Amino acid sequence: MKLDSLYQEVILDHYKHPQNKGLSEDFTAQVSHVNISCGDEITLNIRLTGDLISALRWDGQGCSISQASVSMLTDLLTGKTLEEAAVIVKSFSDLMASKGTSPGDPSILEDAVVFAGVSKFPGRVKCALLGWMAFKDVAIQAQGKK
Ligand code: ZN
Repeated sequence: MKLDSLYQEVILDHYKHPQNKGLSEDFTAQVSHVNISCGDEITLNIRLTGDLISALRWDGQGCSISQASVSMLTDLLTGKTLEEAAVIVKSFSDLMASKGTSPGDPSILEDAVVFAGVSKFPGRVKCALLGWMAFKDVAIQAQGKK
């Protein structure tokens, strides 16, 4: 797999220095998702304050793409409302479905556009999406508990 070297650097940086890693004891909802095809595992928990995502913490193991992607997700979505988060998640899902044809929208995705290159590799799309699918799930569960 060949990714643009700058992109690769940002992904590796998040992999080596993950953001918001380490689960919180104080959460509204928590989920665990696995990507069997690669062996990636992510547990994600969320704390909601009204509609605001006041904390997103995670733990996990797996390939650099899955771990860097969830690290970036928690960075992007913490402090956003659920409505704002849904727009970002939709944008990332569309990017991952683009098969390499979309550069991604940096005004919405910020650093997460570095995963644009991954969308060319169907086997790795699941790795990049794992944390985002977990987020969708945990957001729904947290809203049910409000
Ligand atoms: Zn993976």
